[in-house]
Amino acid sequence: MAEHDVLIVGSGPAGLTAAIYTARANLKPLVLEGLQSGGQLMTTTEVENFPGFPEGIMGPQLMMAMREQASRFGVKLEQVNVDRVDFSKRPFEVEAEDETHLAKTVIVSTGAKPRMLGIPGESALIGHGVSTCATCDGAFFREKEIGIVGGGDSAMEEALFLTRFGKRVRVFHRRDELRASQIMRDRALAHEKIEIVWNTVLTDVRDEGSGMLRKVGTRDTKTGAEGETELDGLFIAIGHIPTTDLFRDKLDCDDEGYILTHDGTRTSVEGVFACGDVQDRVYRQAITAAGSGCMAALDAERWLETQE
Ligand code: NAP
Repeated sequence: MAEHDVLIVGSGPAGLTAAIYTARANLKPLVLEGLQSGGQLMTTTEVENFPGFPEGIMGPQLMMAMREQASRFGVKLEQVNVDRVDFSKRPFEVEAEDETHLAKTVIVSTGAKPRMLGIPGESALIGHGVSTCATCDGAFFREKEIGIVGGGDSAMEEALFLTRFGKRVRVFHRRDELRASQIMRDRALAHEKIEIVWNTVLTDVRDEGSGMLRKVGTRDTKTGAEGETELDGLFIAIGHIPTTDLFRDKLDCDDEGYILTHDGTRTSVEGVFACGDVQDRVYRQAITAAGSGCMAALDAERWLETQE
C-alpha cells in the first residue's frame, strides 16, 4: 500500500489551494475530492469578490480553473467519499470506497453544508419545490412565487439571482434587521421584485396532497400570529454546518462541530491539519478558505521536515 506524504480530504478552494502548494513542494498530494467535487462554489452564481477577476467569475468556473491548476502540477484527484479515518496511529489511515490510503500528514478541508430548518414537510419536499441551491434550481420557477428563508449574504444573493426567474421573491427573516452586508442589503431592498417579510419564521411546508410545494405556514415572531403563504418554490439560506461527522471523535471540535485549530492550521492530532470552512465559523469566504489552504500546505510541509 503506497504511503502518501500528504493526503487532502475535500476539494473546495481550501483543499485545492493546499494541493497546489504541496504539489509545487514536490510532496505529490492525493486529493480525495468527495463525490461532488469543488465544494460550495459549485452551487454559487457570480463571485465578485475573489481578487484577480475584475469582471467577476462564475463559481463553478473558478473551481474548474483551480482544479486544472492543481492537475498541472501533477496532483492526483479521486472523486470518492471518505468512509473512515484512523488518526490514532502513524501512518494515518484514510478509507474511501473500500480502499485504505496511508498518509504521513492529512489536510482536512471538507467544508460545510447547508443548514436546514427542521420543520415538518421540509425534507420530504426537497427537490419538489424546496431547495438549498438557487443556481441549481432557480430556472424551475419562471414566473412563479418564490420564497427564501434567511437574512444573511447568502439569502440576499439568492434572492437577487432568483429575481431573474420569479414573479416575486419573498424573503422570510426572523428579525427586523438583516444580517447581510450593506451592499447586498441595499441591492435586495432596492429591488422591485423582492419583498422582505420581517419578523417571520416558517412553521411547516405543505404540499396539500400534490407532492409539490404549495404553501408554507408562518408565525410572526413578535405577535405570535400564525398565517400561511402560497409558494411554488422555497429556498433555504440560513447558513451552514461543518462537514465533520467523520472527525468529531478523532479531532477536537467546538460545540457546533467546527474543527479547532491552533498555531495556524494544526489540529489536536499532530500531523493532521484543517483549513477552509470546516474550521472557520467567522469569515467563511472563498478567499479566506484558499488562504487557509495555503497555510495548511506550508504547515504540513514544515511538519514533515521536522519528522525527517
Ligand atoms: P449567515 O451569515 O450565518 O446568515 C444566516 C441567516 O439565516 C441569518 O440571517 C440568520 O438569522 C438566519 N437563520 C439562521 N438559522 C435560522 C433558522 N433556524 N430560522 C430562520 N432563520 C435562520 O449565513 P450566510 O448568509 O450563509 O453567510 C455565511 C458567510 O458567507 C457570511 O460570512 C457571509 O458574509 C458570507 N457570504 C458572502 C457572500 C458575498 O459576499 N457575496 C455571499 C454569501 C455568503 P439571524 O440574522 O437572526 O441570525
